[in-house]
Amino acid sequence: MMSRPYNFSAGPAMIPMAVLEQAQAELLDWRGTGMSVMEMSHRGKEFTQIAEEADADLRELLAIPTNYRVMFLQGGASSQFSMIPLNLLCGKTQADYFNTGIWSQKAIAEAKRYCSVNIVTDSTANKFTTIADPTTWLLNPDAAYVHYAANETINGLEMHTPPDVGNVPLITDMSSTILSRPIDVSRFAAIYAGAQKNIGPAGLTVVIVREDLLGQALPFTPTMFNYKVMADENSMYNTPPTYTWYLAGLVFKWLKEQGGLVAMGKQNQHKSQLLYQAIDGSDFYNNAIDHRYRSWMNIPFTLADEALEKPFLAAAKQAGLLALAGHRTVGGLRASIYNAMPEAGVCALISFMQAFEKSHG
Ligand code: PMP
Repeated sequence: MMSRPYNFSAGPAMIPMAVLEQAQAELLDWRGTGMSVMEMSHRGKEFTQIAEEADADLRELLAIPTNYRVMFLQGGASSQFSMIPLNLLCGKTQADYFNTGIWSQKAIAEAKRYCSVNIVTDSTANKFTTIADPTTWLLNPDAAYVHYAANETINGLEMHTPPDVGNVPLITDMSSTILSRPIDVSRFAAIYAGAQKNIGPAGLTVVIVREDLLGQALPFTPTMFNYKVMADENSMYNTPPTYTWYLAGLVFKWLKEQGGLVAMGKQNQHKSQLLYQAIDGSDFYNNAIDHRYRSWMNIPFTLADEALEKPFLAAAKQAGLLALAGHRTVGGLRASIYNAMPEAGVCALISFMQAFEKSHG
C-alpha cells in the first residue's frame, strides 16, 4: 500500500485508502461491464444494484427501522437547511432551533424564510464553547420540530446524546458525525448529512426521514426539494450523483469490515481522547470547549503565541500532516479526525505537536 500524508481536513476529508484503491481498480471497467460506474445509466441494472446495496448497507450500519426512508440527494447539507422547513412544518408555522454554532446559525437563517423560529438555547455569548443547562432551554410545545446540529464542525462542539425534547419531532444535522458511532435512529424524525466527511466524496447528501412525515410539503416547494417525490422515486426523480453514491457504498462496506459502528465509536472516542490529553497536558496548546461537549471528530486548538500558527502549519505540512488550519471564520488550528483517520495519524500529530512545543515553547 502506498504511503500518503495524513490529511486533517474538515471536509472534503480523508477517504479510506482501501476504498480509493478499489475505486481505482474498478475505474475503467466495473466488474466486466466494460464501463466505469461514471458512465452507466442510473436506471440500468448495474447501477441499480450498486444503489440498492449502498442503501441496504447504510440501513444495516445505522440499524435504520423500516418505517424510515433513506434518500441520496444532491445540494449538500446546506440545501437541507431549506428542505427541512419546506417539507416538515407539517401544517405548523413555528419551529425550534438550537443555536450551538455556525452551522446552526445557517440553518436558522434559512428556516426564517418559511416559519417563525424559536431559539431553544443560544451559545453565542459563550463563543460556542458550551451549551446551557437543559433546565434553561425554551422548548415550544407548538413547534413543528426541534432542529439541532449534532456536531458543530467549525467550533468542535458536539452533543453526544440527542436532547430530550418531549414529543416534538427531533431533526438533526449529522454532517460531521454520522457513522462515527451507533445512534438510535428512532429518536429522530429526520437525520441529514453531507457526504464529504464520513460518507465519501462531496456531491451527495444522505437524508433519513420517518415515513409518516412525508407528503405535507409547503405548496410552493420545488419538485427537486420535495422529500415525498424523491423518496417515491428512490432518489431518482432526476439523475442522482451516481459516482459519489457508488463511492459511499464502498465506504459503507469498508465500515462493515472494520466491525461496524460499535468498533468505529470505540476508535473515535479513543483517538479524540489521545489528542485532547495531549492538548490539555500542555500550556502551549489550548482547546476551550466544555469537556462534556468536546467533539470526537473536529478538534480545534490554539497556540499560546498566535504568531506561531503559520510556522506550525508550514512545519506540519513538511512532516506530512496536512490541512490543520482552523476554519477561515474562526482562525486557529483544527484537526478533523473522522473514521478514515487512523490512530497512527493522530499519534503522528501528537508527536509533531510535542516536538514543535520543545523547539518553540
Ligand atoms: N452542516 C455541518 C455541520 C457542516 O459541517 C457543513 C459543512 N462543513 C454543512 C452543514 C454544509 O454542508 P454542505 O457544504 O454539504 O452544504
